[in-house]
Amino acid sequence: MSELLIRGGSVLTLDDEGRQGRFDVRVDSGHIVEIGPDLPVGQARVLDASGAAVLPGFVQTHIHLCQTLFRNLADDLLLLDWLRERIWPLEAAHSAASLRASAELGIAELLLGGTTAIVDMGTVHHTAEVFEALIDGGLRAVAGKCMMDDPTGPDGLREPTESSIAESIALAERYDGAANGRIRYGFAPRFILSCTPHLLREVAREASARGLFIHTHSSENTEEIAIVERLAGKRNILALADSGIRGPHTVLAHCIHLDAAERQELAAAGTRVSHCPSSNLKLGSGVCDVPGLLSEGIHVSLGADGAPCNNRLDMWTEMRTAALLQKPRLGPTAMPADLALRMATRHGAEAIGHGHDLGQVAAGFRADLQVVTLDDLLAGPHGSLASRLVYATERAAVRHVMVDGEVLVEDHRLTRWDRSAIATRASAELRGCVDRAGLSHLLS
Ligand SMILES: [Zn+2]
Repeated sequence: MSELLIRGGSVLTLDDEGRQGRFDVRVDSGHIVEIGPDLPVGQARVLDASGAAVLPGFVQTHIHLCQTLFRNLADDLLLLDWLRERIWPLEAAHSAASLRASAELGIAELLLGGTTAIVDMGTVHHTAEVFEALIDGGLRAVAGKCMMDDPTGPDGLREPTESSIAESIALAERYDGAANGRIRYGFAPRFILSCTPHLLREVAREASARGLFIHTHSSENTEEIAIVERLAGKRNILALADSGIRGPHTVLAHCIHLDAAERQELAAAGTRVSHCPSSNLKLGSGVCDVPGLLSEGIHVSLGADGAPCNNRLDMWTEMRTAALLQKPRLGPTAMPADLALRMATRHGAEAIGHGHDLGQVAAGFRADLQVVTLDDLLAGPHGSLASRLVYATERAAVRHVMVDGEVLVEDHRLTRWDRSAIATRASAELRGCVDRAGLSHLLS
């Protein structure tokens, strides 16, 4: 891979010392090899970062690429209605081609907005398409097939326990470690109510034996929690932990409604929480007590969730919202800008097992980076880099993005894919999908 010199930017290292300054960054063979002022160009290709910030790519720890096609088609509904009336029928109607189109649409959006890695939950069928799109698109990911074996589950998605597990293992054997380790497998039981206790225990056992991740939803909604308590005799986090779903390789999306015992369990096990503030607001789910969780030693990173409940896969929105959301409750000093930025980068990298080589601009780290224009008019003229980025910058400012040192967005343009072809294919595939779902009226 060619040598690159990112030249003339304001580097926000996000290292332990919080160093920043006007540095060049040399990238070779997918890694950052040198950071310093006025580095010689030599044989390197120069990537212009003048007037821009250089920072780690964002890591979004809760995404549903399979739902990107359904953006704007499930707005202003309660969570369980949102699932039953729109999301489940639409996911069940996916063909391999429509799922591929949905994944490509999401990956393109994520890259253009500075996200370089995700934790993705697929749908029940055709999951190989998501992996192929990730391999082709260049994004880093922990991804997995959605598992739904509860016998009362929705038509078209409900599946036998053993085949759900067998298909997940087959996908893991095929894709875990693909694209030079850029792709990892994460078992994705949808949430506790869509899975049998047997499946959850098997997922925990297989994930542990194979060194794989687990990604699920938990404690998003009070109705969900009441049903779990009635069925399992305990609250979500403790019921999941009893199944073995806990620990640093487990990512739980949301975790809004927790009691003290659940918080103790999350902290003791080192289980990862993915905070999705826009989704939580739009579905009226509640406000996650992120400062409280962090103060108790619970690991929290950020994610956009799916396009139908957000409706943008945009870490800039999530950082800003995560910061603002806490202030009416706890005062304006809660969740400062630099903490929001760390959650969007370093914490996400830690959640996907890359705390040692992603999430910082540091020599020896992988070159998953973004270069973001610091607009003097829209985000200036002064202020700390963290403030400018978290409170005043939008994703349109993302100039260049690279993963493993490969430039995937250059001067705001995708380098591997044609943007208009992705949009055209998505539009065509959506039509077929809503027709198959019996929801054609959504496009009228
Ligand atoms: Zn979700």
